[in-house]
Amino acid sequence: MTIILRTNPLEPDLEVIKQAAKILLEGGVVAFPTETVYGLGALVFNEKAVSKVFWAKKRPPDNPLIIHISSISMLDEVAVDIPEEAYRLIRVLWPGPLTLILRRHPQVPKLVTGGLDTVAVRMPAHPVAISLIKELGIPIAAPSANIAGRPSPTTAEHVIRDLQGRIDAVIDAGETIYGVESTIIDILSKPPVLMRPGAYPVEEIEKILGTKIEIPDFARGLTEANTALAPGVKYRHYSPETPLILVESSSSDLSKIINAVKELSMKYAENENKKVCIVASSETISMYEFMSMKIHVLNIGSRNNLFEIARNLFRTLRSLDELSCDIAIIEGVEEKGLGLTIMNRLRKAAKLKIRV
Ligand code: AMP
Ligand code: MG
Repeated sequence: MTIILRTNPLEPDLEVIKQAAKILLEGGVVAFPTETVYGLGALVFNEKAVSKVFWAKKRPPDNPLIIHISSISMLDEVAVDIPEEAYRLIRVLWPGPLTLILRRHPQVPKLVTGGLDTVAVRMPAHPVAISLIKELGIPIAAPSANIAGRPSPTTAEHVIRDLQGRIDAVIDAGETIYGVESTIIDILSKPPVLMRPGAYPVEEIEKILGTKIEIPDFARGLTEANTALAPGVKYRHYSPETPLILVESSSSDLSKIINAVKELSMKYAENENKKVCIVASSETISMYEFMSMKIHVLNIGSRNNLFEIARNLFRTLRSLDELSCDIAIIEGVEEKGLGLTIMNRLRKAAKLKIRV
């Protein structure tokens, strides 16, 4: 049985927070909203509870979790030898969607870090997440609250659809704000390395640091990461059940993408008699309407507001399965700012990538 606890996102109901804290203190697992996506939490120092997180998500044991804290004193309980560069980012960007890779405090179970001697830590900005960690006085280890490989959950309904009966409770506080996960920076390396693009654009983080951040191919979603470097990045990720085709272009000329999407969708709809879903932007959607009765078009948001596309991304990927399309085709965006984050998720989610 999974209990659903409802609260207002801005002024968390103290009774709800207390009930969730009680479940966690008794060794249970609770899904809760953060400003990025919903997380599935367990007390970081309780190995049995942490192992329930892996079980509930069907997550491979070498894919580490992010530790969520609510104060700087908690940081010292989970990490050691914190470099000055880390504090420079912490001062400006915490609480918020920035995760830092730091040296593991020996008291953090290796189960949490997938066997690594580093930890991933962040201080979330969502009032519900902060209240819960404060109430506990103990950091929470939490990956996204979805079955491994599926799109991350941005509502409690998404969590329920994936994890009903597999977790003790979910706190429902409505939709999350950014809709994509935190940006992960390995601040121990020189220069710092982007492990995963996220809700904070890497360009903004570079400005605060005053140095360039290395962006490996795996952070762009082009290759899989070296296991020893970032175990989490090597698995199938963010995928709807509907096979997804990503059409991307390095040219800023959108007509290349539009023509390829049109051609592909007509081929599947008319020649192969498939139900096709096209995921387009507000700027391009009119190009695909009325092409065929077998083509359904969805709007993911404006190319001039990548925050909007990021926020709609996982909900749109999940909706493809509800529409029971045979195949989905999605347009790529430019890899700048949040565009890097969106393209990382889409490249990992896609079954087939086409460059035009
Ligand atoms: P999730 O919250 O589900 O997106 O999962 C957390 C992600 O954080 C994992 O997929 C890892 O890629 C990343 N992560 C956690 N700990 C580490 C670490 N010590 N080193 C590198 N990446 C990490
Ligand atoms: Mg995840």
